[in-house]
Amino acid sequence: MARNSSAQRQWDESDVRVRANKKGSRPRTKQRPTHEDAVIARVIAVDRGRYTCVVNEQSHDQRTVVCIRAKELRRKPIVPGDQVGVVGDVSGDPDTLARIVRIEPRATILRRSADDTDPVERVIVANADRLVLVLATESPTPRTGFVDRGLAAASDAGITPVICMTKTDLKDPAEFLTYVEALDVQTASTEPTDALGGRPAAGVHEASLAISEASIERLRTILDGHISVFLGPSGVGKSTLVNALTGSERATGGVNDVTGRGRHTSSSARALRMPDTSPGTWVIDTPGIRSLGLAHVSEEELLNSFTDLVPATADCPRGCLHTQDSPGCALDEWVHRPEASPAAPLRLESLRRLLAASRGETQAGADEKHLGQAIT
Ligand code: GDP
Ligand code: ZN
Repeated sequence: MARNSSAQRQWDESDVRVRANKKGSRPRTKQRPTHEDAVIARVIAVDRGRYTCVVNEQSHDQRTVVCIRAKELRRKPIVPGDQVGVVGDVSGDPDTLARIVRIEPRATILRRSADDTDPVERVIVANADRLVLVLATESPTPRTGFVDRGLAAASDAGITPVICMTKTDLKDPAEFLTYVEALDVQTASTEPTDALGGRPAAGVHEASLAISEASIERLRTILDGHISVFLGPSGVGKSTLVNALTGSERATGGVNDVTGRGRHTSSSARALRMPDTSPGTWVIDTPGIRSLGLAHVSEEELLNSFTDLVPATADCPRGCLHTQDSPGCALDEWVHRPEASPAAPLRLESLRRLLAASRGETQAGADEKHLGQAIT
């Protein structure tokens, strides 16, 4: 429930009076936890210590407020998607600056580490319930490792993954999607059109490229009512897609310009509105993320994200590590069975690469670490 900020604002510090009391009994004060007067806001962008937040996001009184964080929160990451308690001037008027005093409990946290064995993890986004992995059918070549890293990160965070293929004019997306067909993962693909109308020839002139309304409509249905974070290697057409989904209704518009930093060119994520969706729908774009280290994901969780392979491990010896040289690992035989998907051998290879990387056994090369193996 969105809180009513004007009702909240009646309760400011001046309401708490400690009256001298002749009888010596305790003064009657309005006891309350600290900052109960804070209004709840959604963080949509973070840029050099300035937090752009939306107050009353579910109502027509929605407004954008620029905040700094209270000293006591200095060490805590505040990221797009977070719901925070804000005090001070929450009018959103130009040249005002409010203060974040509290981070509300998070439904989900999407994290990554710089490396697979680096214990330092970063919170990318909070409260997302959809993770959209964006891949191109070609240029750049889609990588199975990126998909599996994304699925593991989603599984770890308790976020529902969606795989979205772009550049379907260059190649049939079905080819790559065989890799995940044995998984219960929703997929979508975008279809570019010539902005002037009609289907483009392969390699359409980019200035005239647009995403067809039909493919946008399918994605809108999948994402409506959700907070969706988009991840993709650079060049896959993620910006083109996010722009098509969010149009000009950018939630960052109308940012107050206390600092002259109204435009968000930073490399951190930002939340955007999607037109024609229910209140509470957000698309969170992540321009700066090129790799997805999984140091924070346990081996067990990693394996669990390979939902097609997990059942077969029931036949493994106790304590099986499922590596190539694990004696009696049931996966080796299972992936060649007729009931396994044709992609199963590749999936097993990918699982083993990720397990080895998480054990620090392989010094993954840049290409492997960031994107995994190409499927050909
Ligand atoms: P990002 O780095 O993932 O944000 O990718 P961009 O959205 O900047 O797109 C990278 C390049 O791919 C640009 O030249 C786009 O015009 C082009 N592009 C995007 N979508 C498509 C598509 O569906 N088909 C083709 N052929 N090119 C596309
Ligand atoms: Zn095994």
